[in-house]
Amino acid sequence: MSPVTRAGVGAILFTADEIAEAVSGLAERLARDLPSEPIVLVGVLKGALFLTADLARALPPQVDARLDYLAVSSYAGARSAGEVRLVQDVSLDLAGKHVVIVEDIVDTGLTLQYLRGHLGRRKPASLRACALLDKPYRRSVDVTLEYAGFACPDAFIVGYGLDYQELYRNLPYLAKLDVRASEG
Ligand code: 5GP
Repeated sequence: MSPVTRAGVGAILFTADEIAEAVSGLAERLARDLPSEPIVLVGVLKGALFLTADLARALPPQVDARLDYLAVSSYAGARSAGEVRLVQDVSLDLAGKHVVIVEDIVDTGLTLQYLRGHLGRRKPASLRACALLDKPYRRSVDVTLEYAGFACPDAFIVGYGLDYQELYRNLPYLAKLDVRASEG
C-alpha cells in the first residue's frame, strides 16, 4: 500500500529508513568531534522535536549529553516572515558547555543566525549547528551549519516534525507538499 495518504503530499524525498541512517551519521560525527565533553543538544521547536529525540538516542551512551529546547516563530504558512522571534527560551545553564543547535531545516539561514547570536551570549564552550535538511542555495545570510543530514531540493517539505500550518508533522517520512492541493 502506498504510504502517501494525504491530499497535497507528493513525492517522498526521504523514507523513514533513510532518515534514521542520516541521523545515525550525524550522531557519529558529533560523537567523533565531541567525544568526552558535556554536550547540550538544543532542539528548535517544533520542527526539530523528533530529530532532537532521535539524535540524542543515536549518540553513544558514553557521551555526556543533555537536552534542552527553545521555540522560535519565523514562518507564516509556506513563506518566511523574515523576522525571528523567541517564543520560549532554554532552561539549562549553557556556560562552559558544548552547545549544538538542532534545527529541522536551514533555508534562508535567518533563524540559525539569530540562534547563534542568542545562544552565543550564554558563554558556551563551543557552539555548533546541526540540521536534518539544508537548502544552501536559499541562504540570504552567511551562517555556518556544521552538520547537515541531507541537501534538499527547492520545494516545501513536510513530515518528521516539519509542518504546514501545524499539519503533517507526524508523517514518518519527508515529502514534498503541493500547498495548493493540500488546501483543495
Ligand atoms: P530560515 O530562517 O532558515 O529561512 O528558516 C528556518 C525555518 O523555516 C525552519 O526551521 C522551518 O521551520 C521553516 N522552513 C524552511 N523551509 C521549510 C520547508 O521546506 N518546509 C517546512 N515545513 N518548513 C520550512
